[in-house]
Formats: sequence, C-alpha cells, structure tokens
Amino acid sequence: MPAQLGDHLSGLQRLVILGGGSAGWMSAAALATGLRGVEVVLVESEEIGIVGVGEATFPSIRGFNDILGIDEAEFLAATGGSYKLGIQFCDWRQRDEHYFHTFGDFGQLDGAGALWGQYRRMRDRLGCSLSDLCLPSVMAEQQRFCLPAAGEELNSRYTYAYHFDASRYAAFLRRLAEARGVQRVEGRVVQALRREDGGVRALRLEDGRELSADLFIDCSGFASWLLGRTLEVPFVDWSHHLPVDRAWAVPTERVGSEITPYTRSTALEAGWAWRIPLQDRTGNGHVFSSRFIDEAAAREQLLARLDAPTLAEPRLLRFATGHRERFWSHNVIAIGLAAGFLEPLESTSIFLVHNALGRLMPMMQHVRAGRSAEAAEAFNSQQLRQFQRIRDFILLHYVLSERRDSEFWRYITSMELPPSLDYKLHAWRETGVLRHYDDEAFGESSWLAVYAGMKHWPRRSSPWMEEVPAGLAEAFLRERRDSIQRIVAGMPGHDAFLRQVLRRS
Ligand SMILES: Cc1cc2nc3c(=O)[nH]c(=O)nc-3n(C[C@H](O)[C@H](O)[C@H](O)COP(=O)(O)OP(=O)(O)OC[C@H]3O[C@@H](n4cnc5c(N)ncnc54)[C@H](O)[C@@H]3O)c2cc1C
Repeated sequence: MPAQLGDHLSGLQRLVILGGGSAGWMSAAALATGLRGVEVVLVESEEIGIVGVGEATFPSIRGFNDILGIDEAEFLAATGGSYKLGIQFCDWRQRDEHYFHTFGDFGQLDGAGALWGQYRRMRDRLGCSLSDLCLPSVMAEQQRFCLPAAGEELNSRYTYAYHFDASRYAAFLRRLAEARGVQRVEGRVVQALRREDGGVRALRLEDGRELSADLFIDCSGFASWLLGRTLEVPFVDWSHHLPVDRAWAVPTERVGSEITPYTRSTALEAGWAWRIPLQDRTGNGHVFSSRFIDEAAAREQLLARLDAPTLAEPRLLRFATGHRERFWSHNVIAIGLAAGFLEPLESTSIFLVHNALGRLMPMMQHVRAGRSAEAAEAFNSQQLRQFQRIRDFILLHYVLSERRDSEFWRYITSMELPPSLDYKLHAWRETGVLRHYDDEAFGESSWLAVYAGMKHWPRRSSPWMEEVPAGLAEAFLRERRDSIQRIVAGMPGHDAFLRQVLRRS
C-alpha cells in the first residue's frame, strides 16, 4: 500500500481543518453535520485573512445547503444574496453579441434524438433564437424570477443558483458549524509536525500551541500549506491552456430598482470582466492574463466600464491555474484553493468544494474501517476528472471565439487543445453529437448553449437524428417557444420575488 495514499486512519477521532475561508467553513459545517463521534477543530488566522471573492455559484449549492438544513430565505438574508439563472456572455464570439448559458434545457434539441438539425433549417421561419427555447434564458433576458414548479411540466424544467457575499457566507457557515460543535482556534500555523510514515501528526501555532489530529483538511487557500508546502505534492500548471492569472475586484453601488438574475461576463482585450448583482451592491472584476496586459492597464479597463460609483479601492488577486497532482496524500486532504484553481468564468470553485465534500463524506466510513488507501485513490482520480472536465468546458468559451483583435485572442484561438476537448469538438463538428463523458459537471444543455451562443454548428448531423418529420418538429418548436413566452409573462420581476422571500426571513 503506497504511504502517500492515506493509510493508518482507522482510528479517526479528531480532525483538524486548516483555514476559515469558504472552503474551510463549508468543510466544517458538512463534517460536523455528517460525521458523528468525531471531534472537528478549525484553525484560521484573521491576520492572513481570506480571498473573500467568489460571489457566483452553481446550482448544486442548493443540495449542499439542503443537507445542512439551511433555509433559503435565511441564507439569502445573511449573505446579501440574489438568485442566479445563469451567465450572460457578452462580446465572446464577436463584439456586440451576447448569449445566455442558463441552467435549463432546450427540450428535444439536446439529448438523444436532438432536433437541433431541424431547428437550424426552420430558424428563420420560427423567428426565434435558440435561447428563446430555453425557459430560464427567457426569464433572464426579461429579468424575471420564480422558483421551478414541482412535476414534469415545462415550468419545472430549470434550476438556479445564487450570488452572494463570500465573506458573509463564510461567517454564516461559521455560526452554523460552531452551533454543531466545531471548535474554532485563532492563530497562525507555523510548523507541521510529521509522523514516521510521512503524514502530519500536529500543527504548531505561532504561540507554541499544538493541534494534533488523525486527519487534516487543508483549506489554507492558495498557500496549500499542508498538501503543497508540507507534503510537497507538486502543482500541475495549466496556464498554457488557461493563461489568465490575475484579477482586479471592486464593489460598486447597486444600480437601479431591478437587479439582474444572472452574472454577466464580458470578453475584453486580454481576459474578461464579471458583474455580479447582490442585494445592496454589485461585485465587479477583471480577470486577465499578465502575459498580454499589464496590471495598471487592466485596472483602468475595469474602472472605465463600471456603471456605478465604487465602494472601495480595487483589489488585485494573483493566481495560478491548475491543481495539485494528488488531492489526498497521507492523512491530508486538500479542499478549495489549496487543491487547485480554475478561473471563475463558470463559477466552479465553490462547486468543486461541495462536490469534493459530497464524495468525501461517504468515504469517511471506509476510512474508519481501515480502507483509507482505496478511498484516497478513488478520491484522487475523481477529483482529477472533475478538474479536467471543467477545464475543457471553460476552454470551450475561448476557443470558439472569432475574435482576433488582440495577441491574447490570437493565442488562445490557435493553441493545441487538450485531447479530451479536441475529441468532443470533433464529435460535435462532424456529427452533431453532444457526446459527454461520465462525471461531467456541465451536461449536454450547457455544451449546446455555448455552441449555439458562439454560432458554432456542425457540418452535418448523424442520420438517426433526422428521423423526426419536419412538420412535427416545427409544431413542437413553435409550441415550446410560445409556451415559454406565456409562462415567463406570468412571473414576477427578480427584485420583487427576492423582496418577497426576504420578508420571510
Ligand atoms: C478572482 C477570483 C474570483 C473568484 N470568483 C469565484 C466565483 O464567482 N465563484 C466561485 O465559486 N469561486 C470563485 N472564486 C474562488 C473562491 O474565492 C474560492 O474558491 C473560495 O473562496 C474558497 O477559498 P478558500 O477557502 O479555499 O481559500 P481562502 O479564502 O484563501 O481561505 C484560506 C484560509 O486559510 C487560512 N490560512 C492560510 N494559511 C494559514 C496559516 N498558516 N495559519 C492559519 N490559517 C491559515 C486563512 O486565514 C484563511 O482563513 C474566485 C477566486 C478568485 C481568485
């Protein structure tokens, strides 16, 4: 049994989490809720602080909140949050164009027996874009919001996520975790004391205190203090594929009476800008590649495009894209930025945290039964696949662009692709198959939304997809388009809906 695969964990009685950012407190809340009979301690340093950005999320955060027994209204009130139906991508294919990637499907346009071939032929006659056939995209366009209905009808076939203030989210989870027995220790960790097998025995704090444990969760952010720095698990750098490595972030005053139920991402000269509406402010940022634009120019580009007065000085964040070669080594498991980072284009970091916790929790049983080596091996391969699949989906947004107006765009649209993405693109271009691998965070509807938004259509479709008679297909698509318009017309505006929910908190 290889030592780095976390053996000798069978006596799991005490667990220490290093770090109190979103990842640390999400881990603490989940472990305190799901692991009975294990003492959970979290150590963090206020002096070091947290990243504090990370305001847009992915729908499965709702499942995570449900497991913790969190009430939605209370959560939105505590975090200044709003609803998120998806992302509006502006200027990505060409300037002055936009499309939505929302969390809904296109009916029979995606999946098996897809009708998109017929849709393309009758698009002019139908007089609608593909977005018009996706309920949450129409909701987003019209700034409406309503919870999905129960059942199988059209008004039930979408999901949603949240925007929130990341620091308030960590504070909210801290209250919850502490109420469930997590013990918080304030202090800076300066040394890791090792075991004979190379694992970690205890953490030593600046004031000399020692925190020993059977298992350590490294949530120390970009420092990757335990997995990277102490156990020296190498970092796998993906910056050749995703070259953005810096971000300026700045909050602005809230604009207008209606806040958009979506994140906006606008492609710029050497990266892209985010705009995330919260209840009482808007989060803004410019994610860019320092190889193609300097920090001062990137700051100016962000400030020049803001639509309201700033509430603070812009803050610069530096990061590397990639992941640790292993996520679980010896008795250390890294979660959050300590495990790796993929740029925030599709809001996947917090998703990667709760997704990892969802995989880990059942594995703790195997750990207790002395099977931690097998659990670690499975966890490592699952995490790696997750990172690779998300990298490919993020990359898709760039490589389909027709922009060639800067060095950045010329580089990113001409680079060699990872084979997994190359294969998927080939399958789509040649036969219109939205083929996808197991364990994809982004399913067929997501891929179709980006292909269609970027006007990247296949050369031909496979014959078995053409079997639905054209008349039937047209009737189906007209009915879907009209039903969506009717349903959305009956929904309240996002702001009105949110205010009504907050009154319940
Ligand atoms: C520009 C940018 C935009 C982002 N946008 C999004 C987004 O929209 N959606 C999304 O899902 N994610 C986003 N993220 C990612 C998101 O911010 C993080 O995934 C999330 O906040 C988790 O961070 P963390 O808890 O891993 O690290 P951190 O927030 O950095 O927390 C690290 C913790 O470790 C502690 N610590 C470190 N070293 C020590 C030590 N030696 N002793 C004691 N304590 C220590 C720190 O005090 C802190 O408490 C974004 C990230 C960046 C950089």
